[in-house]
Amino acid sequence: MNTGKHNEHASLVDPFGRRIEYVRLSVTDKCNLRCFYCMPRGFKDFEQPEHWLTYNEIERVIRAFTELGVARVRLTGGEPLGRKNIAELTRRLTALPGLNDLSLSTNAVLLDRYAHDLHDAGISRINVSLDTLKPERFRTITGGELRPVLDGLMTAKKAGLAPIKINMVAMKGINDDEFEDMVEFCLEHDFTLRFIETMPMGATGEDAADHYLDLQEVKRQLAESYDLIPGVMPGGGPARYVQVRNTNLRIGFITPISQHFCESCNRVRVSVDGTLYLCLGQDDKVELRPLLRAGITDDALKAVLTEAIALKPEKHEFRDKPGQVVRLMSMTGG
Ligand code: SAM
Ligand code: SF4
Repeated sequence: MNTGKHNEHASLVDPFGRRIEYVRLSVTDKCNLRCFYCMPRGFKDFEQPEHWLTYNEIERVIRAFTELGVARVRLTGGEPLGRKNIAELTRRLTALPGLNDLSLSTNAVLLDRYAHDLHDAGISRINVSLDTLKPERFRTITGGELRPVLDGLMTAKKAGLAPIKINMVAMKGINDDEFEDMVEFCLEHDFTLRFIETMPMGATGEDAADHYLDLQEVKRQLAESYDLIPGVMPGGGPARYVQVRNTNLRIGFITPISQHFCESCNRVRVSVDGTLYLCLGQDDKVELRPLLRAGITDDALKAVLTEAIALKPEKHEFRDKPGQVVRLMSMTGG
């Protein structure tokens, strides 16, 4: 991957002084699972394929971002491994000058098949959603099977993808008896573990809110069994880390609700239909697809992106105005 000194002076800074250097790119809003907090069972209202940004269009948008100082991109969805030829897209993006970190969020159902290709295409860091190690519970939460996910994780490890981070949404009454089991699993396999608070989004908002758990409680539970010391993880993301003493295990806590991290937000999101969302929890957006399909020049595209950053809201209001955002997480790109 090219880590040259491309456009080192360009940068996107929003009205609150936050430097935007990270794009989360949703390559599909479809998914082969139905995690109840993310997508309602039976949900079928997906974006039409002709509205999906093509790989050429995605490459143009990401190139424009990198020329404006964005150095990191994460592929997400929906389930990104469900988009055809995803390894080809990763190869094209990793070749962009200025992009020095391309990562992926996945449910790992198809990871067994794609791990080696992804590694060869230049992806190193992956995040894998895994809320339980119990097959029956996995079915209840996601509607799918646990086995392919565990196989995918083991193949990813063998393929040399690292670090592998497990994202576990902590849910009262659902998986709050499994935190230690997940710590042991991550210790055994040398994975990083991150807990996430459920966010009320779209039609799944009420279900998610019913099981909300403040991660301070999770940390307190873990501290009874493990010696947790302050830790860090490079990358500047929203997780606050601790480390289990005398091990390599880092545990991150992502607390959008109990302690929001909006003041250090460094990211924007592009959805599969080419909508640039300035905040996960707000509606501020700019539609890029019509501009791309009307033949916008590269310079004009960069001007649009720069102007869009001026619309970035100060913070989300999940706590004060739950239910405000009607989009599902799978639509925006989580
Ligand atoms: N399908 C991939 C996956 O599951 O990792 C990528 C997309 S998924 C939308 C990205 C992340 O969003 C996952 O870690 C998932 O647990 C999280 N997520 C989805 N809905 C959520 C919600 N309502 N609250 C908190 N996290 C959520
Ligand atoms: Fe699919 Fe990921 Fe949403 Fe689960 S969290 S339904 S795996 S997009």
